Amino acid sequence: MATLGIPQNTIAILQKYQFHFQKKYGQNFLIDTSVLERIMKAAQIGPEDCVLEIGPGIGTMTQYLAETAVKVVAVEIDKALIPILEETLAPYENVTVLQGDILKVDIGELAKEYNGGKPLKVVANLPYYITTPIIMGLFEKNVPVSGITVMVQKEVAERMQAKPGTKDYGALSLAVQYYAEPQIAANVPPNCFMPRPAVGSAVIHLKRRGNPPAEVKDEKFMFDLIRAAFNQRRKMLPNALMGGGIPQLTKENVIKALEKLDIPETIRGERLSLYEFAELSNILCSL
Ligand code: SAM
Repeated sequence: MATLGIPQNTIAILQKYQFHFQKKYGQNFLIDTSVLERIMKAAQIGPEDCVLEIGPGIGTMTQYLAETAVKVVAVEIDKALIPILEETLAPYENVTVLQGDILKVDIGELAKEYNGGKPLKVVANLPYYITTPIIMGLFEKNVPVSGITVMVQKEVAERMQAKPGTKDYGALSLAVQYYAEPQIAANVPPNCFMPRPAVGSAVIHLKRRGNPPAEVKDEKFMFDLIRAAFNQRRKMLPNALMGGGIPQLTKENVIKALEKLDIPETIRGERLSLYEFAELSNILCSL
């Protein structure tokens, strides 16, 4: 295997194809073998696994995945990378490269076609401009995915893993933790990429939960409450919720529901756990 994770090999292939990095696609290619090894370790890919890689770039991580998994399906938006991937992945018969936008791909269909409908494992050094829609799409559309291991901006990883009462805790923490158990596996400095991103990065592993940690009668309503609570996070919860434009929600009912939960009405949303947001939403649904 011509290890693309070594900078000279990446430079050589980019020069051969006269490739120009496209900022609009968030292209920062990995050039550090120890980071690649840490991603593989965090993703826990075994010989039975079918992996979906989002944005293979020139195929650096794809090569590692193909060495371990039974099958790798890689979706890349940039047409200019397809001939490069044909060369770098030529030795691997277990890799399929699809050109397209991951946000428009039917991942359920991919799982059917390449893994008999069984859950895929997602591994990616994500394009940072669409981190949240990609991850929330994987969760909300209920696609068959058992684990997600991704490189994201360090501060986004910290928000995903944050606990109530901390400065990083917010709507993203609650959304991710409702669907998965997050764990940061590595911090990765800008010099591990070409070109170097302006921000630090981190690898985070999101283990899909079998069931959500709290029973919720109306998920959309709970996430509307959460969004409203954090849109005005410095306000006391009843006031913040009233600013969220949620139909039929009255301040009186919010105060009543908080009372039932034994939570003071002066509380701010950033103090509430996922379980408490679930309870609050269930009570408000029934008032
Ligand atoms: N995996 C490679 C690596 O680690 O070196 C490249 C990672 S780079 C941060 C992100 C990759 O995602 C780029 O190859 C980019 O072209 C691709 N990409 C960007 N937007 C995409 C989209 N909507 N769908 C699929 N791939 C996309």
